[in-house]
Amino acid sequence: MSKYMSSRFDNLEAYTPGEQPRDMQYIKLNTNESPYPPSPEVLEAVNREEVSKLNLYPDPTAKGLKNKLADRYGVEAKNIFVSNGSDDILNFAFMAFCDDTTGVTYPEISYGFYPVYADLYRIDARAVALKEDFSIDPKDYHNAGRTVVIANPNAPTGMLLSVEDIKGILDTNRNNVVLIDEAYIDFGGKSCVELVNEYDNLLVVRTFSKSRCLAGARLGFAIANEGLIADLEKIKYSTNPYNINRLSLIAGERAIDSDDYYFDHCKDIIEAREYTVTELKKRGFTLTDSYANFVFAKHERVGGEELYLELKKRGVLVRHFSKEIIKDYNRITIGTKEQMAALISAIDSIL
Ligand SMILES: *Cc1c(COP(=O)(O)O)cnc(C)c1O
Repeated sequence: MSKYMSSRFDNLEAYTPGEQPRDMQYIKLNTNESPYPPSPEVLEAVNREEVSKLNLYPDPTAKGLKNKLADRYGVEAKNIFVSNGSDDILNFAFMAFCDDTTGVTYPEISYGFYPVYADLYRIDARAVALKEDFSIDPKDYHNAGRTVVIANPNAPTGMLLSVEDIKGILDTNRNNVVLIDEAYIDFGGKSCVELVNEYDNLLVVRTFSKSRCLAGARLGFAIANEGLIADLEKIKYSTNPYNINRLSLIAGERAIDSDDYYFDHCKDIIEAREYTVTELKKRGFTLTDSYANFVFAKHERVGGEELYLELKKRGVLVRHFSKEIIKDYNRITIGTKEQMAALISAIDSIL
């Protein structure tokens, strides 16, 4: 840090993204990207002609993309917010819906960015322990008296709350925003988007990064009552009105047109997940019940970090977290069936 950096940030611990090493070709099962390319429609639309228009600013209202998302999710365009990845939306939401008097609460084991935003904005944060089996007890969030942030399915466990569970949280927090981060909902969970018309305090955050194969495009969206969307727009127009570049806007629109392509690949991922769970269990692993495009697994003998390092030596990258409660585990992204078979044979050679 230079002497010019504000001392406000002395104790800020930045988020650490999963490693993206360039030293060799790894089987990348560490950042929950899709193993599949974007749909053929996306590949065709992001073309030379569109690149040649990069001298012009993108549409700050993102009207085309919002309309497509509204149609797709059965809401109106005024219920949609779009931004430069869902991390950007989480950032705006912490800015907009938390402050000195309104704190935040989230599960102790969840997406690693939540505590970073809480730190960044100096928000009082209450991290709630998971139950013994790593599940979230929805009652822990009843009458929270602060902004509630929950990833559903949760990361890195993949475990799911039901729409009824979320309703219970919404009912008992009518004066606070409940943010449900549905980054992984397309891999077998049931979305709570249908509740946005009923609850003006519900903010559902989604991303194109996982199920829609566009992590590199940086595109996220939120669905909520128009009041919350207007709040996010206010923050966006106070920071970066052109928050989505032209090419990503086009990619996003075409991606919504290719729902079948993505739906089929989500099915492939779910099948590969089931295969992986079965094979890992046969080899002495314990796993959480994952509804995401990753599994969370610990071996009866091999430690979490050791397994991570041995897999890396064999060209397979997975994600290990050093936090005490979960240090025996690894989060393994589900790739293609072939990639998962390669993971299993690497594990066989380690065991
Ligand atoms: C991947 C992920 C995100 C971030 O997604 P981007 O849209 O790529 O910024 C947000 N929340 C959770 C829980 C995630 O796993």
